[in-house]
Amino acid sequence: MSSEVKSPVESPSHAVESVSDNGQRAKVIKNSIPRIGIFVCHCGINIAKTVDVERVSSEITKEPGVVFATHYTYVCSTPGQQMIVDAIKEHKLERLIVASCSPKMHELTFRRAAAKGGLSPFYCEMANIREQCSWVHEDRDQATEKAIDIIRTIIEKVKGNAKLEITSMPITRRALVIGAGIAGIQTALDIANGGHEVLLLDRYPCIGGHMAQLGETFPTLDCASCIFTPKVVEVAQNEKITILSYSEVEEITGSVGNFEVKIRKKARSVIESKCTGCGLCSEKCPSKVVNEFDRGLSKRKAIYIPFAQAVPNIATIDKENCRYYKTCK
Ligand code: SF4
Ligand code: SF4
Repeated sequence: MSSEVKSPVESPSHAVESVSDNGQRAKVIKNSIPRIGIFVCHCGINIAKTVDVERVSSEITKEPGVVFATHYTYVCSTPGQQMIVDAIKEHKLERLIVASCSPKMHELTFRRAAAKGGLSPFYCEMANIREQCSWVHEDRDQATEKAIDIIRTIIEKVKGNAKLEITSMPITRRALVIGAGIAGIQTALDIANGGHEVLLLDRYPCIGGHMAQLGETFPTLDCASCIFTPKVVEVAQNEKITILSYSEVEEITGSVGNFEVKIRKKARSVIESKCTGCGLCSEKCPSKVVNEFDRGLSKRKAIYIPFAQAVPNIATIDKENCRYYKTCK
């Protein structure tokens, strides 16, 4: 079902002054507002039950620049997309708005339809009148008014859209995950299992974050270690993941796909490749300090491994409390 509404007025024009190379001034008539076409979707009854799509379609044609508006049962369907292609050609549309669901659902669908009609895909926008309107309201009049307002905002947006060109550039297919708590660990695993190299960074001597400190997790009161340790072991064994524990991010430059990150690897003052994690150093160390891992409920030594299953299982000298560093540095 559809009904087409055409605006009685053409796109407004205005005069602008142009200065030529030889300094001559001339008045040039330019269209200030592009020709906009709008498709209002019913989404079956998802939108049409709460929003009066016919009224929206008719009201919105009064907006400057709107030269065509219609409403249709399922704009994302094949006939719906074909309507878009045909309307672009027939009405010489320069901008396209589909008032329907979230852009997450169908932005690509409609941008492809725009391109098929000969319009730059970047001249197509979606006005979300489903998730942000019909699904969250009950009053039909108010929802209809809101839908019109939402479309008005997108009309203003689409007027300023530029005809972008898609370019490509080389990117580094490697990820840095900052923070190796349970969320960072799972993120690193997901990326690595997707086939990409991952650097998993944490400022503490081992990975695990707060999850490592918990006995049970809410609300099921599952044993935290039973969830956490298999993940940590998986990270340690995954050849695509490099753990950068006891490290800090110093600087991030660049942009998406080409970040450059300066990382400071803090000194443990223990030769990492030679430490077996036997714990003998902690046993012999005379300096006892509050154990932050146990939230101060116990003591640890100045040379320590935070907890028994720590990954990496390498000792670290806490230089603030080590007698040697305190007296000889
Ligand atoms: S475009 Fe979106 S709102 Fe319209 S029918 Fe398809 S899913 Fe529903
Ligand atoms: S845990 Fe301590 S004693 Fe054992 S190898 Fe590592 S640094 Fe040496």
